[in-house]
Amino acid sequence: MSKDTVQDGLVVSMEYTLTVDGEVLDSSKDAGPLQFLAGYENIVPGLEREMAGMKIGESKDVVVAAVDGYGEFDEDAYMEVSRSEFPDDMEIELGMELGVSDEDDNHQMAFVESFDDKTVRLDFNHPLAGAELHFNVKVVGLREPTSEELEHGHVHEEGHHH
Ligand code: ZN
Repeated sequence: MSKDTVQDGLVVSMEYTLTVDGEVLDSSKDAGPLQFLAGYENIVPGLEREMAGMKIGESKDVVVAAVDGYGEFDEDAYMEVSRSEFPDDMEIELGMELGVSDEDDNHQMAFVESFDDKTVRLDFNHPLAGAELHFNVKVVGLREPTSEELEHGHVHEEGHHH
């Protein structure tokens, strides 16, 4: 298969702008192009699907519905946790992002929605849950992943490993 279009198993470099409700939330203008390994859920599914088959130099406007983006807003995605579950010296702040593991060791991100001396209320909705995402993307590079990147299912940027 020819490897000159976006397809599963290739590392894609893209320039992008993300706009929600007319406001630019994120852009590669500052940090440079974003790389992702296609086919490994590195980016939101609605965008990945629309980018399949794009060539280097091609650009596209893609509108992604919440369900294909960061999910619908879930009014039940809250959990109250006793303040005593947190380390004593940990300062809790509104909006702070926490990594939470459940009993099956599934790791999830949550945000502090409110708290008092006894209870911390966590919001498991992604900050962009419920939002329609407007992307402008341009493919600026395609390459084969290294065997390590394939094994991990994500891109290793230069000088940065995880
Ligand atoms: Zn890795």
